Amino acid sequence: MPIQVLDHETAAKIAAGEVITDPGAVIKELVENSIDAGSTRIDISIVDGGKKEITVMDNGSGIMSEEVSLAFERHATSKIHRLEDLYELNSLGFRGEALPSIAAISKVSVKTQSRKEDLGSYVRVDANKTHIIRRSFSPGTSISVEDIFYNTPARLKHMKKSNELSKDIIQLGENLALSHPDISFSLTVDGKTVLKTPGDDNLHNCIYSIFGSEFGDSLISIDYENKPLMISGFLGKSNYTKSSRKYQYTYINNRYVKDTKISRAIEEAYENSIMINQHPVFIVNINIPPHMLDVNVHPSKTKIKILNESLIFLLIKDGIRKTLRDNTTVKEITPKV
Ligand code: ADP
Ligand code: MG
Repeated sequence: MPIQVLDHETAAKIAAGEVITDPGAVIKELVENSIDAGSTRIDISIVDGGKKEITVMDNGSGIMSEEVSLAFERHATSKIHRLEDLYELNSLGFRGEALPSIAAISKVSVKTQSRKEDLGSYVRVDANKTHIIRRSFSPGTSISVEDIFYNTPARLKHMKKSNELSKDIIQLGENLALSHPDISFSLTVDGKTVLKTPGDDNLHNCIYSIFGSEFGDSLISIDYENKPLMISGFLGKSNYTKSSRKYQYTYINNRYVKDTKISRAIEEAYENSIMINQHPVFIVNINIPPHMLDVNVHPSKTKIKILNESLIFLLIKDGIRKTLRDNTTVKEITPKV
């Protein structure tokens, strides 16, 4: 075949495939936008594993009416303006690719209103055209995504079954909710609410609401600082273990990342106190100065590269060990007092 520049629509669908791999990826991107918008409440709902419909509603900043159509342009972002901003990144988003990617492979509609304006916008995106009507809504943004992959049949065919997708999405919802105890999250699956967190900025209450009291009562808090690193959150006591690693949640600067290396480092710090084939539980947020991180490793932003990784891993292990040790000491001393 001769060399040809792909038409806009084909190029958009191919690019979308890197960011939007399944309904869960849509939810992750939409919820991250809601978090970046300063929301204190985020309500997610899905129908048919997210294949039929996904809605994410927030009470965040909303999108100014003059910027609404820009939000669906590729590489349009309000979060960075130059490459250097990446080294001081405080937002989850920065690529300006999520909304155009979602719109390229589904039917999207948006209701949004900025706190600063009297009228909001109702937007429908189809075939890469945005239709905007001015309307009044309560401040915030609600995005609805229908019929994901309707125009990319090969992807549609390879999607998991609805009940498996729903299961993945519930775990993703828990993950996102645990990363932000200051936000009240809800997740509704086919009309049934399966997750609701208080949003009172208390991680322990958030954990309780998701996993219940037996889990919640088996934790010790960690609060470790050793420059340039800070660890906060909860570690399972070494006598409270699970046969899988499902209950190991690690966040970097409140960002949910798929990085098993950090989880393994934490697990190693438990050393011999854990029985063979058992795994500790933990929910920890690791704060690392943004200039020591590269989050621009993959379009989905779930992979992260830590500069000076070996130092960071040493500090993580030190923090976990000390916390576990101090806690054991406290337990031994208490009865004598
Ligand atoms: P990015 O998050 O990388 O900037 P997106 O495509 O996800 O790119 O979103 C584009 C822009 O649309 C964002 O930079 C933001 O300004 C705006 N936006 C998207 N979702 C929301 C939301 N829920 N609330 C407020 N603004 C939003
Ligand atoms: Mg985004």
